[in-house]
This record gives sequence, structure tokens and C-alpha cells, in this order.
Amino acid sequence: MAKRDYYEILGVGSSASTEEIKKAYRSMAFKYHPDRNPNDPDAEHKFKEAAEAYEVLSDTEKRTVYDRFGHDGLNNSGGHQDFSSAHDIFDTFSDIFGDVFGFGSAGRSRRGPRAQAGADLRYNLTISFEDAVKGTETELQIPKETDCSTCQGSGAEPGHRPETCKHCGGQGQVFQSQGFFRIATPCPICRGAGKVITKPCPDCQGRGTVQQTRNLKVNIPAGVDNGSRLRLQGEGEPGRNGGPPGDLFVVIRVQDHPRFSRQDFDLITQVDLSFVQATLGDRIEVPTLDEEVPMDIPKGTQSGQTFKLKGLGVPHLGSSRKGDLLVQVRVKTPTKLTKQQEDLLREFEKLEAEKPKGKVRNFFKRAMGEQ
Ligand SMILES: [Zn+2]
Ligand SMILES: [Zn+2]
Repeated sequence: MAKRDYYEILGVGSSASTEEIKKAYRSMAFKYHPDRNPNDPDAEHKFKEAAEAYEVLSDTEKRTVYDRFGHDGLNNSGGHQDFSSAHDIFDTFSDIFGDVFGFGSAGRSRRGPRAQAGADLRYNLTISFEDAVKGTETELQIPKETDCSTCQGSGAEPGHRPETCKHCGGQGQVFQSQGFFRIATPCPICRGAGKVITKPCPDCQGRGTVQQTRNLKVNIPAGVDNGSRLRLQGEGEPGRNGGPPGDLFVVIRVQDHPRFSRQDFDLITQVDLSFVQATLGDRIEVPTLDEEVPMDIPKGTQSGQTFKLKGLGVPHLGSSRKGDLLVQVRVKTPTKLTKQQEDLLREFEKLEAEKPKGKVRNFFKRAMGEQ
């Protein structure tokens, strides 16, 4: 089959400017890009043909040779290139479009030359107070966009094809004049795709992708706290063109606990004591996250005093060290006394009054609410 004329392929005149040639190729390449025309060998052929024509006509030297001697001139000039190599074509394509549209290199091209790292993902995970202190294993459902299988990613209902966007003529961009400059902006109607979907695919509502979930087991180490970030290397979005995948960052939020709060690696809890326990001392049971542990209350304990139970707090991340459990005691003043209890306390007060220490007396007066 005789080779078609390069100007004819791009649909431009033989005196076309470099800009016109570029524009013509741009529109052809968009129209016939294999990713937009899967299973259409004719489109792929046209795409390659346009790339070859552009390769020659955009190069002043090659164009001069072609203008004089036609296809034969190029083949005999020693500058013959294997245009059937897909790599060259996609190189050309993404050199022109890659940065502008994110289509050639960052988009769906499987053969684009530029390796791109996948995006990092962030996952907000809420865990219980206990799980944060003790560590846990959990399974995350990571959302993942994949091509819709019903429309094979085209976004159009099966049997219908996306139509060329009338607003931009399929170029995916529109031009605006600003002074001397013509500024290209992505077409607002087709959002740069060059095609519009008239009958959207019912399964993906025309997006071409559907969200699936991927299950991922994650170990939450003991000792994480609000705002802790766990980095799971390589679990982000896949890279493109051989680029490395991104990372997944799991950001921890810890639920409140009714009995415990936390200050770094120390746990804090409150226990109530009767004024008799506080005065005479006692051995009490203190709750921890696992079990109750005994704790001695010394004689003369004041309300608000804090006792430290060593090593019963939160483990330091990645270490065997642990924080402490801080027990704040609160002395409860009795509100309902029997006649006998009241008599005893009056007796007690009398004995206190005979002592020379006014300070102690005042303390008990306050405690009994007499002031
Ligand atoms: Zn679909
Ligand atoms: Zn458009």
C-alpha cells in the first residue's frame, strides 16, 4: 500500500505553519488515541500515521527533505526511523500533551515514558482507648478506583460511544485571547477529555471508574496516641509507567475512656475515698485497664493527692518501657449521717478543740460544712 501524504494525513495545506501542524496533530492524536479507542485497529493505525507525519513535518530539516523528495527522500537520507515503534509515538504524544493534560504520561497511557510515583493515601482510623494502649491488629478497607467493567472505562452505556465534544471540537481545550496571547484552558464542557458522554453507563454514572475496596491487615503497635501516623510503605496508589507506589499513612484517633485519661505515656484515673479512709489510711483496689490492683492509702491522705503506680501506664512505642498509672484520690464528705455518727463527730470535734493546734480544727470545720 502506498504511503499517504503527510499533509493529507494531518489535513493541513503544504504551506501550513508549525503551529498549525501541531494543532492538527493534537486533534488527530486525541481522536485516535488507542486508550480512547480500544479494540479499534483502524484508530491505532491512524494514530501512528499521524505521529509519523507530525514527527517529520514538525522538524524543519526533515520537512524540507520530504517537501523535495517525498517519502523516498526520507528513507534514503539515512535518517530513517522506525515509526512503528510504539515508544517513539508515545514519546511524541506525551512530549506535546503530557504536561498540559496529564493524559499522555500521567494519564492512562501504558507506554508513556515518564515513570511516576503513585500518590500517598491517608486513612483516618479511630480505635478504642484500650487498643491504643495495648496495640491491636485491624483490617482496613482501602478505597480503590478501578476501570468500570461494564463500560470498560469509557463511561458510556454499552452500545453507545462517547461523542466528540462540540464545544471544543474534540480537542479538549479552548483558546482565549489575552492581549497578544492565546491561552489554552481545558474545555469546561468535556473537562479536557474531548468527548462527552450522552448515555452514561448505569454502573459508574459515566465516570468510567468504580470504587472498590482492598482489605489490608495492619498492626497497630501498643502506645499509639491521638494523631499518631503509621506509614505503610508501598500501600498507596500504584505508580505509573514503572514508578514506585505511594505510601499509606494511617492517622490514629483514639476514643475517650470513661475511667482513664492519658498524658503521654502515663494513665490517669480517679478514685473516691471516704474521709475515714483518708484519715486513718486503708488498702484499696485500683482499676487498671486489665484488672484491679491493690494500693495502700497512707494515714492523713488529702483530697486531690496523686499516687503513682509504676509501670502500669502506656508502653513507649517500640520499646519495653512503660509509663505509670497516676491515681488521683478524691475525699468524699459524707452527706447523710445517722444520729450516732453525728454524736461521734461532735465528740471528735470537742477532743480536737482541746488540742492546741487550731489549724486542724479549722480543717475539720470546713470539711463538715460548718462555715
Ligand atoms: Zn461504566
Ligand atoms: Zn470539550
